[in-house]
Amino acid sequence: MQLSVWTYEGPPHVGAMRVATAMSGVHFVLHAPQGDTYADLLFTMIERRDARPPVTYTTFQARDLGGDTAELFQTTLADAYARFSPQALLVGSSCTAELIQDDPGGLARALDLPVPVIPLELHSYQRKENWGAAETFYALVRALAGKSGAPRADARPSCNVLGPTALGFRHRDDVVEVRRLLKSMGVAVNVVAPLGASPADVARLGDADFNVVLYPEIAGTAARWLKKTFGQPIVETVPIGVKATERFIAEVAALAGVDPAPALAAGSRLPWYSRSVDSNYLTGKRVFVFGDATHAVAAARVARDEFGFAVVGLGTYSREQAREVRAAAAEFGLDALITDDSLEVEAAIVAAAPELVLGTQMERHVAKRLRVACAVISSPVHVQDFPARHSPQMGFEGANVLWDTWVHPLMMGLEEHLLGMFREDREFHDGAGASHLGASHAAGSVLLPTGGNRAPIPASRDGTRVSAQRKDEGESAARASNPSFVPTSSGHLLPVGEKGEPAQILWTPDAERELKKIPFFVRGKARRNTEAFAELGGLAEITLETLYDAKAHFGGR
Ligand code: SF4
Repeated sequence: MQLSVWTYEGPPHVGAMRVATAMSGVHFVLHAPQGDTYADLLFTMIERRDARPPVTYTTFQARDLGGDTAELFQTTLADAYARFSPQALLVGSSCTAELIQDDPGGLARALDLPVPVIPLELHSYQRKENWGAAETFYALVRALAGKSGAPRADARPSCNVLGPTALGFRHRDDVVEVRRLLKSMGVAVNVVAPLGASPADVARLGDADFNVVLYPEIAGTAARWLKKTFGQPIVETVPIGVKATERFIAEVAALAGVDPAPALAAGSRLPWYSRSVDSNYLTGKRVFVFGDATHAVAAARVARDEFGFAVVGLGTYSREQAREVRAAAAEFGLDALITDDSLEVEAAIVAAAPELVLGTQMERHVAKRLRVACAVISSPVHVQDFPARHSPQMGFEGANVLWDTWVHPLMMGLEEHLLGMFREDREFHDGAGASHLGASHAAGSVLLPTGGNRAPIPASRDGTRVSAQRKDEGESAARASNPSFVPTSSGHLLPVGEKGEPAQILWTPDAERELKKIPFFVRGKARRNTEAFAELGGLAEITLETLYDAKAHFGGR
């Protein structure tokens, strides 16, 4: 197993927990070692749920391994049933428990409980979280789904909405938007599952005319089984972005035999906003996209077709959807990046030198270090990606949200531009510091040349600064857009032609002043190029002359 600080997906039992936690009336008994209860934190802390997931762990310890862990499992299961009285039980093992080869399904059958008990085969060492969620939902649907046989009270065509789970990226809000779209077309929602569904709801899945799959990673397998079993067609388009929402409406209208016009009438502000914004901020902006397959593919298309961005990278950690992502990447003339190694993703971002990253929480960290704009589009996410306000990704309102969240990180450049224009102003000059922090923060300190939230670097007595920030910013910051830095095989970056560690180079005050006259968006590059030039020439100090020589050497690069 690869050890990593960051991971895109947890083990499959976390996927099973996402399904169980999303539902009501379901309880999951997980054969797992003491310590695996950490997974509860994902839901209570990151998603801010007000209740623990409906999971009971056997929490066996090392000393239990010599005894009867099978009996421990059965006792735990019987206790959980007595305590929670669920309509259905899920049983499975976490990674470590899988190794001791108890059989939760067989052990549960022997107890003969009076509710459906659904065994999960989680294959922890080969599979991951999304697969675990898909398998769990599929197992539930296979075990419980049917046709109720009750005559329909509602004459409208109806569908199921499948795929939203707990801990999903804006799933809760997407369901609201999709329900709104369906309602405007006169289509009834039979069941939404797993989010908010009970086992009794799952038992009615067969009553709908067709299925809407919002997240193929999670509901694709179950929807294919429902199609085979009950003949329910699948709406394939995921309504992320204006164009996809229009296609989604057309697909639903065709299956339901209804008029798409009322749903289309709502429209989105995104197309007009795209047209209205200064093209400097959108047209041709280089964007790197990475996330789960559903969100990454949708984001790449929206970025190109609705924002006017140039997609320079597209990838996913969802290996089960690799084929779809490869096909989408081919549309952009790209090779898809399929990996769950965040360092590989970071290297690809560096190589692509984008101006905007659309990714997960991991890419947000990377982009922050590289000082590249970033918006999160997919799980895994941080607590701040579960906002209190309504913030969907799907439907027309979702498209409005995409506009706000993808463009604002770029618009920050506008503010920096204004700061550049007023650089010499008494109040706004680079040494002034933030006005809300008072004058004391300006004296004896200077701001980093490229802005950002870093602490000021103290100035030396003669006003000369040491460019030591190069090291503490990390070499990765230099990689963002600077072709004069190249990665070594060990993953480090060196200026072109450099062999050892970069030396600390002094900037004279007049050179530093001249550097500040360069617009902010190329100032960082000019600083790095000049320092690389000085290092190549063995210079310990950068003067005004060195700055001009470096400019001539790089020929305006
Ligand atoms: S059982 Fe799996 S999830 Fe739990 S601690 Fe071990 S490796 Fe991690």
